Amino acid sequence: MYSKRTLLTILTQHSIRASRRWSHDEVRVRFAPSPTGYLHLGGLRTALYNYLYSRNKNGKFLLRIEDTDQTRLVPGATESLIENLMWAGIKIDEGPGFGGEQGPYVQSERKQIYLEAVRELLENDTAYRCFCTERRLELLRKEAIRTRQVPRYDNKCRYLTPQQIAVLLAKNTPYCIRFKLTAHEEPLQDLIYGPVTHNVSENEGDPVIMKSDNFPTYHFANVVDDHLMGVTHVFRGVEWQISTTKHLLLYKAFGWQPPLYGHLPLLVNSDGTKLSKRQGDIGIKSFRDKGYFSEALVNYVVSAGGGFEHTPGQKPQIYSMNELAHRFNIERVNSHPSRLNPDLLNDFNRLHILKLLQSKENSKDLVERVKVLVREAYPKEKNLDLGNPHIENVLKWACSRLTFIEDLTEANLSFLWVRPVEFKLKNVTNDQMESLIANLENIEFTKDNLNLKLKEFADNNNVKFAVFMKTLRSALSGLKEGPGVAEMMDILGKDCVLQRLRSTIHAQSKEAAANVVKK
Ligand code: GLU
Repeated sequence: MYSKRTLLTILTQHSIRASRRWSHDEVRVRFAPSPTGYLHLGGLRTALYNYLYSRNKNGKFLLRIEDTDQTRLVPGATESLIENLMWAGIKIDEGPGFGGEQGPYVQSERKQIYLEAVRELLENDTAYRCFCTERRLELLRKEAIRTRQVPRYDNKCRYLTPQQIAVLLAKNTPYCIRFKLTAHEEPLQDLIYGPVTHNVSENEGDPVIMKSDNFPTYHFANVVDDHLMGVTHVFRGVEWQISTTKHLLLYKAFGWQPPLYGHLPLLVNSDGTKLSKRQGDIGIKSFRDKGYFSEALVNYVVSAGGGFEHTPGQKPQIYSMNELAHRFNIERVNSHPSRLNPDLLNDFNRLHILKLLQSKENSKDLVERVKVLVREAYPKEKNLDLGNPHIENVLKWACSRLTFIEDLTEANLSFLWVRPVEFKLKNVTNDQMESLIANLENIEFTKDNLNLKLKEFADNNNVKFAVFMKTLRSALSGLKEGPGVAEMMDILGKDCVLQRLRSTIHAQSKEAAANVVKK
């Protein structure tokens, strides 16, 4: 419940009649989710296109929570939506908890505003009270189904006389408010689809705009709020396109200038099939949990829908949010279904690792992140190789091969981090090892080059190649199996390889010394 003072402030701030005339000079867009679930790819796509548009035009991005359908609320959904939007790199200019002069930004806190708005439509005779009982409506529905018609309200209460209404009100008969649909004079000029004609009054009965419990329906609250919040452009999923024609009639009834609308086509799987909201794996959280960077996910989502200049055959490139905003052009958004290409998502993740490595500051952060992951993966291990140059070297190798930095801690790559415990050189003498180290110091560490040199070395020293390789593998990794030795050396990098090889001499010398003492 509102205190009298709050109510007064709300009403004066938002008085429908005295509501501010927006100039539409400044772009104001909004993302208006219903907190009935968690953010998924479709929702992120809508939020992103609005956000990119606002940034491209130096405008504002608003977040409005549309929670009028109280029966479908999911506890914690709003907090989680906000958290995921922020993770994606979207900065909210106005919204619940973000300030802004046109709040509250949660619809359930705006009930008085809708009551006042509905009163205006009753007064100008574009809305009416409907006293039909649920039972009557149910009978209408059943009859329509029986006669194979699309169920629709027959607008009966539109024609009640003032006397009939007075009698019903005197008897406290419950009622809802319906909006009088009229014929459309002009098509909707969709910014993405072009002109769209849908004569809603020919297809539907008058829609309920306020339920008997004084809660507005989606259509009504959405229009009132877009107007009062000064929204200039609405980008939303194409499933709302039919509703837009209804919304335009509501604007007309109020005498308000409507925003411009652009509907975003369906987001579909790569084979054209529909993404199902029930598939847990389209939730943003599941992408985060898998280890995708937000930048990769953002580029993935926008690459499906277009909106950017694209040269055919151009290799995928990863753009920052600022770069995307700068390049964004609403006229380039496609009106055919947006196909997601999951391979591209992995490419983007790798490209992002590469991009991070190109900046000193970012690569430092990445290196620290890897340290945390490795420590978590080997909590008991004391012998970890976590020097910064080593990690950077590994990352450079990884970014063209692995999708996630988490992959670096997989068991088959343990040699990257876990230094072999003191190792006894067998089949190779200390002197040979020293000479090998001297040789390796001066060569370029590529797989082919290493293979060649190791072969040469084994031949020159009369050591069997296979035995030599086995010894080196154990010396470098403590493992009996794993990638080829030259490859392993290439991944580990020169410094790390030489250090590990040197320590085998050290181990052998200690052993030799111990034997001397024993004798
Ligand atoms: N609350 C609606 C939704 O959940 C918003 C639609 C719109 O953007 O107008 O999608």
